[in-house]
Amino acid sequence: MTSVIRSAARELPVIVAGAGPAGTTTALGLHAAGEAVLVFEARGPVATRARNIFLRPQARDILQEVGLPDPGRDTTIMSIENDLRGLASERGVPVAYDRRVLGVVEHTDHVAVTVQGPRGGISTVKGRALVDASGGRIAATETGDLERVATGPHHVYVTAQYASPARFDHVYGAFDRARSEGMVFFPVANKTGFVAYYDLPPGVPIGDEAALLARYEAIAGRLELGPPVAAPQAFDARQHLSRSASRGRILKIGDSAGNADPYIGAGAAAALVDARSAVRALTRPGDDVHLVGQAAEDVLAGHRNLGAQAGMMVRARSLALRSLPDVDLGERLTASDLRPSRFLDLTARLLTHLPITSSG
Ligand SMILES: Cc1cc2nc3c(=O)[nH]c(=O)nc-3n(C[C@H](O)[C@H](O)[C@H](O)COP(=O)(O)OP(=O)(O)OC[C@H]3O[C@@H](n4cnc5c(N)ncnc54)[C@H](O)[C@@H]3O)c2cc1C
Repeated sequence: MTSVIRSAARELPVIVAGAGPAGTTTALGLHAAGEAVLVFEARGPVATRARNIFLRPQARDILQEVGLPDPGRDTTIMSIENDLRGLASERGVPVAYDRRVLGVVEHTDHVAVTVQGPRGGISTVKGRALVDASGGRIAATETGDLERVATGPHHVYVTAQYASPARFDHVYGAFDRARSEGMVFFPVANKTGFVAYYDLPPGVPIGDEAALLARYEAIAGRLELGPPVAAPQAFDARQHLSRSASRGRILKIGDSAGNADPYIGAGAAAALVDARSAVRALTRPGDDVHLVGQAAEDVLAGHRNLGAQAGMMVRARSLALRSLPDVDLGERLTASDLRPSRFLDLTARLLTHLPITSSG
């Protein structure tokens, strides 16, 4: 009798909230293993976040395991998302776009997930588990044990990417000691462009985003960086970690479970490593609550490991910025004031190759 009840519950889909890297990779893995899965994505089918990202070797391996060609070291978040979504569509993985997950109620043998459709209509869908891959944007999974708590100080950036070959072929930068502001440029692979970071030291709150962007534009204008590939964006990249990555049948993965400093180029890799843990656990036989709990242990172990790497990066970056020439970023900065930073280059290279380890 127990096995009959269990298999009936197992016929319900795993519901995945979010078709970012974590959610789509989880759905692809579950579908490939013959498990029923249903993805709800709050936005439309075409991802548009043009932000460049640096992919760790581990992330590239997982994307190839899933069935994509190697995307290379430098890519954009939207290119990864659109490639994964294309694969999901080819393979018949059900992804419902313009559907926002609003909440979840846990029952003994299932979860009831509330979803808002494009015209505002609300429906409830039953699942054997909910995988929250929303990047930490579902209020109902941010409570109690599942709450994400800050594990680092505010760390504020403006970042933009430029397609200008040979402008910066190494990591270059300058640091204004009086204002504690840095300007750093990283070359992208094959030196086909560069990424700019206007960098404030840990501890400075983001404050007025428009003022930060205006400050960046003024500096970029003096340096004549030209038009960026996409509009510069201001971020508070403060690090967060969930107290627990699971409660009952709810599992949090990717940025929902925890995020780390963008300088360590690891968020996408963590999202993909978490997706792998979720798929491994949820394709095993056994009680769903137990399986979700097993996946959560792996997920949290990986994010703690990432937190330690991010801590190293924040300290190394502070030292590296202080080894750059002291320049008045407010008035007198010119391109000739910028200097290469071997230390920042080396630190970034070392850290962006470290694997994210979990028990899986
Ligand atoms: C400035 C910056 C630079 C970065 N650089 C790098 C880098 O170099 N390398 C790297 O690996 N990572 C980098 N990252 C991090 C990386 O982008 C993230 O870690 C990664 O995108 C997380 O993937 P995810 O799938 O967990 O969440 P997300 O990418 O946030 O995807 C979440 C998805 O869920 C959807 N969603 C949200 N709410 C709901 C809801 N209620 N219902 C349904 N769907 C919902 C969203 O629309 C989105 O599609 C950087 C981040 C920042 C901010």
